[in-house]
Amino acid sequence: MTFDPETVVEALASVLCGPAALHEPTFAGNEWDYVKECLDTGWVSSVGKYVDRFEDMLVDVTGAGHAIATVNGTAALHASLILASVEAGDEVIVPALAFVGTANAAAYLGAVPHFADAEERTLGLDAAKLEVHLDEAAEVRDGECRNKQTGRRIAACIPVHTFGHPLDLDSLVEVCEKFNLVLIEDAAESLGSTYKGQHTGNHGRLGVLSFNGNKTVTTGGGGAIITNDADLAARAKHLTTTAKVPHRWEYSHDEAGFNYRLPNINAALGCAQLEQLPKFLERKRKLAKAYKAAFAGISGLRFFSEPDFAKSNYWLNALLLDPDVAAGRDDILAAANDGDFMTRPAWTPLHRLPMYRDCPAMDLAVAEDLYARLINIPSSPHLAEAGHG
Ligand SMILES: *Cc1c(COP(=O)(O)O)cnc(C)c1O
Repeated sequence: MTFDPETVVEALASVLCGPAALHEPTFAGNEWDYVKECLDTGWVSSVGKYVDRFEDMLVDVTGAGHAIATVNGTAALHASLILASVEAGDEVIVPALAFVGTANAAAYLGAVPHFADAEERTLGLDAAKLEVHLDEAAEVRDGECRNKQTGRRIAACIPVHTFGHPLDLDSLVEVCEKFNLVLIEDAAESLGSTYKGQHTGNHGRLGVLSFNGNKTVTTGGGGAIITNDADLAARAKHLTTTAKVPHRWEYSHDEAGFNYRLPNINAALGCAQLEQLPKFLERKRKLAKAYKAAFAGISGLRFFSEPDFAKSNYWLNALLLDPDVAAGRDDILAAANDGDFMTRPAWTPLHRLPMYRDCPAMDLAVAEDLYARLINIPSSPHLAEAGHG
């Protein structure tokens, strides 16, 4: 079947008023005031009131018991794996369709990503398929899950809420319990997204957020660990602040900690951004609704919508091409980018990257298929205002 790429460009043009990037930040609140205050007072670094305030605001937004702000989401993932007692030589279940940082965090500590497939309903990890795979490939002995082929312990699982859409958490929680895997939710893209009414990042032992420049809320660069476990939260704070032992004047450290604390100046930006989160979410959902209507009449593709158990932040909107027109993906990308509507495919599946090519993996047919058929389209919150959709 042939597919005219111009139909996609026309639909994009009907929603967007002009050229549009994939995701740009909106600074329309107290950003200037809060950042200026950091400069005026000299509190720009890793101590200051905005870091604490930002963490309190994150607790409010996510409903988690504790939030620990970090320099970026990847650092939060790295620290979370250590907090989960993942060690060098362990395997960590990571979706093949994910941002590279998720797998990198495991690699940083000498652990090995073990790639899992996606499901089309959520774009997230397919829990049922993972269970079938682990039934076959692994065994639980003395409370530990072992890969029968590699002999390594499979210690944790890091699902990703892809493009902000919550995955099927109940099913995955069950599989993680069955195989004794520590669940660390990569909620880097899903700030404001809920699963059955509960904020994402709250369903495992730890959750991770990102505030990179292209995320729903930005601190320039930044991230956070969220958890409901008070001891783990205290450990997280200690580990990410160079493991300094609190004392009025002694400067001492009791382990090789990380300098992963979010600077106050970034947190100031984050506080101003979080104040606007409800507005951002409203606009992003409005934009998604306009896209959904604009693409409804076009056969050969569909606008990806949240699964019925979830409320999504629609961080990065996506089109899914039907299998018989998937070969035309790059023609659509070329036409849209020529028209100054920035579009791109999903990340190259992680098991295809040179450093992860030889990692253990289950059948990844759906991740491969979604990669071949998916196109991300402009998603900045301000586009809903500008648009006439
Ligand atoms: C953005 C992102 C991260 C973390 O990114 P940083 O740029 O390090 O903040 C991790 N995982 C996913 C899925 C992401 O999208």
